[in-house]
Amino acid sequence: MFDELSWKAQAHPLQQVADDIWQLRLPLPYALDHVNVYLIHGDQGWTIVDCGLNTAQGRTVWEGAFKQLHIGPNSVEQIVLTHIHPDHFGLAGWLQVRFSSAEKQVPVWVSAEEHHFFESLWARIGTAENEAESKGYYTRCGFPLEEGEKVRKATVRTGEHTLPHPKFSVLDEAQPLKMGDRVWQQVPAAGHSDGQVIFYDAADRVFLSGDQLLMKITPNVGRWPNSELGVLERYFESLKALKSFDVRMAFPGHKWLIGDWQQRLAEMEQHHAERLSTTLDAVTKTPGIDVNHVSKYVFRLGDLDIHQARFAIAETLAHLDLLQAQGAIQQNLEDGVWRYHV
Ligand SMILES: [Zn+2]
Repeated sequence: MFDELSWKAQAHPLQQVADDIWQLRLPLPYALDHVNVYLIHGDQGWTIVDCGLNTAQGRTVWEGAFKQLHIGPNSVEQIVLTHIHPDHFGLAGWLQVRFSSAEKQVPVWVSAEEHHFFESLWARIGTAENEAESKGYYTRCGFPLEEGEKVRKATVRTGEHTLPHPKFSVLDEAQPLKMGDRVWQQVPAAGHSDGQVIFYDAADRVFLSGDQLLMKITPNVGRWPNSELGVLERYFESLKALKSFDVRMAFPGHKWLIGDWQQRLAEMEQHHAERLSTTLDAVTKTPGIDVNHVSKYVFRLGDLDIHQARFAIAETLAHLDLLQAQGAIQQNLEDGVWRYHV
């Protein structure tokens, strides 16, 4: 049910993954070419968990799913977002408008911290202030100016695929959340996006796990222009906390379903431990190296597209930050660029 082969062979983007839960695979115009969202059915109607990016193809796939599942105009109870990344929230505004009526607005739920992240980034993308922050960050990372320019333009374009923005409602994370007829514990899952919340149904031992843990690929854990220091520490803490859950199956935001929760958690820890050691290796070999060059050493990919390059930079910086916090390396600001020494 959840291996790579059967996942790839899945002819239709809509797949039933439990009696009352469907997974919908929506297209993305990136190297990672899809995002998984979920539809949960209950007495009060449908709950949509995550939404996809606002593209014509994405909307077409949604319309197919509505038809197939007989989802009528008044049958969506709520929309719930695990985190505010464009591929997860981009269509939230469109869905909210599509299913709201004069009597009832469909709520779009998000955690308080992710809402703050939305206000600090996606609500002001392309503004002069935001451009300046982004430019400063890429300059300090040693990213070539014209490349930084391309990244900023690509980010603005991505931001356009999140319009119209929805009216958000903020989750009370201390309370269990009813989605469909199930009661879900809200579990904070920092690191990939610091305010991410994932949802655990103890009765059925399933997780709606957002992007905290993925098969085949590793979730991006990066320090972005607006992130607080300590991103990787927070991700490690979250992995540790997630080990205490008894999980039969997890429904993730990308790739196929996760059957062995504990093993995948252990693999993530191992992966980042190895990456930390490669990062330290880069700094040891080349004193004074900048983030951009460490990222090229760590990722060993010559031709990263602009999206991959920006993820590589943020992820490399998160690893350098942790090494620096541990006292293994030092960071100096030299001519406006962060340079690293052991
Ligand atoms: Zn994400």
